[in-house]
Amino acid sequence: MSRLTDISKIRSLLEHHGFKFTKSLGQNFLINPSVCPKMAEACGADSQTGVLEIGPGIGVLTRELAARAARVVAIEIDNRLLPVLSETLEDVTNTRIIHGDAMETDFRNLIEREFAGLKVAVCANLPYYITSPIIMRLLESRLPIDNITVMVQKETAVRLCSQPGTRECGAISLAVWYYSKPEILFSVSRGSFMPAPNVDSAVIRLNIHKVPQYDVKSERLLFSLIRAAFGKRRKTIYNSLTGTGLTKEQVGALLDDANVARTARAEQLTLCEFIKIANLAYDNFGAEI
Ligand code: SAM
Repeated sequence: MSRLTDISKIRSLLEHHGFKFTKSLGQNFLINPSVCPKMAEACGADSQTGVLEIGPGIGVLTRELAARAARVVAIEIDNRLLPVLSETLEDVTNTRIIHGDAMETDFRNLIEREFAGLKVAVCANLPYYITSPIIMRLLESRLPIDNITVMVQKETAVRLCSQPGTRECGAISLAVWYYSKPEILFSVSRGSFMPAPNVDSAVIRLNIHKVPQYDVKSERLLFSLIRAAFGKRRKTIYNSLTGTGLTKEQVGALLDDANVARTARAEQLTLCEFIKIANLAYDNFGAEI
């Protein structure tokens, strides 16, 4: 089965299976033929690589991955797409579709079971409603993966990849930079999807650090301070960190010791400055604040 980006072919395939799009599942299927080959190349899929895909839809990206990778495993939540995928991937032998929710999947177990001896990449056109939580799940579990190459809404791409210390960055950008080196690869217009969403998209690649890059005493404490700081991003760091189990005096002393101005705002701090504050807080007050 080829030409899965042909609109009339998709329509007749979906009609044949009685499938109707579910907006709440982020079902916008790719119809621009140049995008999937570029994504499959960008994630480094080759004969030594196992690729995990989230949300294969009708299998348009899956086929491109399967043509390059040693093995592909794709998790699809919508059981109505399973018979469609059986048809579109009929001639593909190195791919397994798992019916399930990617937010519930035990990725470590899946990788060990399905990709033994292979380099692993994640490649997906992500459903927009789980973009950030799924990326955080993948990053925080410290899985043995080389990169996460995903299509996300353009605004989200900018937010995820913004360097700490810049105006666009948020708590999630710091997490992304902590675990990986992110890059925005290319933009994809809204007309490249069926149905067309209201916003444009972009493909990003998070190149995962193989070994931790920073000396952090408690990751839990670091990210709880980062979340508190960005939770009230209009406030100064001095005000936003007060009340997180720390008194004004304690926050003031931490910022002074870390050489961070009390008047700074969360988006002005670098990742290293947050780490300095968190490590000092750990040394002085323990992990439980
Ligand atoms: N890969 C296809 C493409 O590029 O045309 C489809 C991408 S579409 C944006 C997102 C896909 O993710 C849909 O097939 C949707 O049913 C599926 N999906 C949504 N939520 C999911 C979840 N929690 N776990 C696994 N798949 C999910």
